[in-house]
Amino acid sequence: MSTTRIRVSRRTRALLPQNRGRARGRTLATFLILAAIAVAGNLVVPEPVQADGDSFAVLSPAVVSQATALRDKALQDDRAWDFVEGLTVEVGPRFPGTAGDRRGVEWALATLKAWGFENVRAEPVTVPKWDRGTATGRTVSPFPQPVVLAALGGSVATPKGGLEAEVLRVESMDELGALGDGGADGKIVFIDERMERTRDGRGYGAAVAKRGGGASLAAEKGAVGLLIRSAGTSTSRIAHTGGMRYREGVRKIPAAALSNIDADLLAAQMRRGKPVRFHYELTTRDLGTAESANVIAEVVGRERPDEIVILAAHLDSWDLGMGAVDDGSGCAIVAAAAKLIAELPERPRRTIRVLLTANEEFGLSGATAYGERYADAMDKHVAGVEADFGAGRVWALRSRVPDDRLPVIDDLAKLLAPLGIEPQGNRARGGADLRPLRQALVPVFDLSQDGSAYFDIHHTIEDTLDKVDPEALRQNVAAHVTLAYIVAEYDGDLGRAPE
Ligand SMILES: [Zn+2]
Repeated sequence: MSTTRIRVSRRTRALLPQNRGRARGRTLATFLILAAIAVAGNLVVPEPVQADGDSFAVLSPAVVSQATALRDKALQDDRAWDFVEGLTVEVGPRFPGTAGDRRGVEWALATLKAWGFENVRAEPVTVPKWDRGTATGRTVSPFPQPVVLAALGGSVATPKGGLEAEVLRVESMDELGALGDGGADGKIVFIDERMERTRDGRGYGAAVAKRGGGASLAAEKGAVGLLIRSAGTSTSRIAHTGGMRYREGVRKIPAAALSNIDADLLAAQMRRGKPVRFHYELTTRDLGTAESANVIAEVVGRERPDEIVILAAHLDSWDLGMGAVDDGSGCAIVAAAAKLIAELPERPRRTIRVLLTANEEFGLSGATAYGERYADAMDKHVAGVEADFGAGRVWALRSRVPDDRLPVIDDLAKLLAPLGIEPQGNRARGGADLRPLRQALVPVFDLSQDGSAYFDIHHTIEDTLDKVDPEALRQNVAAHVTLAYIVAEYDGDLGRAPE
């Protein structure tokens, strides 16, 4: 063992011509073994990674050994489950500005204090307050039937007694945008765009564009109302809500999401060739603003306490479900990861800050407030990662660091490989709550969770505790604790992220 010998990382070795085939072969073999284990037991039991100094380019054997021990301990630790179970059972939905939101803040403060963190505090955040009231809808003619729908967050109400008009169906925002002036005059526009099921959730971007901006675009074309096919993949008769916004100066029309089942029904009725009339009533209310808070807890670093590693998730949730998956699970994952590090005999060099933000869902109020409060301290933020993609297993690591720091990421990837996590390049986006960090070019990471089933329940009544798999939750904690420990303990620095 030698710490002075120049080591070549696996990534670098794989680039050498003589090794390309071998590296690919090994990757494939590893994948096949992991896949076979996963199929056999729906469980990947990690091979312990030996603290083999020779195979790590940058990290010292002591750091590798500590990270390995943390990772493996996390796989036996159920405190993330305790956290999300407690939050779900004792608080439930935490929609910004509601009593549930305030109780969520109190619950998180009490729990993080009880877990022994330092500097546990609530930092005030002003959030918008909106109430969804009730939502009812039906096709009127030629084939009258009731449908399931949900108001989009922020939508205005329909007139009292509801709104009825003929439906104009388009398949995308592009098709809606291509209508001429007055092309939707007096109509209810129905954007019938389907979201595909993918592991990485890549269909969500288009879905968000439709949900967020569909109403104003439809209004510009003369529409009196907006229906969208739910921005989600559920095959149950449930509607997916989510935030929307009105563009300045554009008439505000009421906006709702149909369940996928009812979007199918409406489309099938329209294929019969006769005009379809639709009626819906939303009793939403804009109630101004309310007070909420970001909740913070820390493990203070032993050597550079003013340098901060952010482990983020959002404490708020939509109102329809219990907020167990989005983002109770994320809060649980980052809290449990930090707790494991807090229990080490020796603190890491830097401070780990758990940041549970207010109102991510309905306007990123918490992230914005954090960015303003800590604007002058962004140069002391050394890295950030956010868990906000449910509770599925982590399958990919992405970083956003300067090229000359990539050997650190190679080492980290080696520690994560036994969890079934593969490196996926250096173009991490970071979670929505990390926006202030990203803008300040703080290195951010993505520990990408498997989102194949996430959008079946996302922002719906089905976001409930039974959807959280304790085994997958442990794997998530293992991934997050490994990453957090490495970036908090690494004796170099990660520099600033490429733009
Ligand atoms: Zn979320």
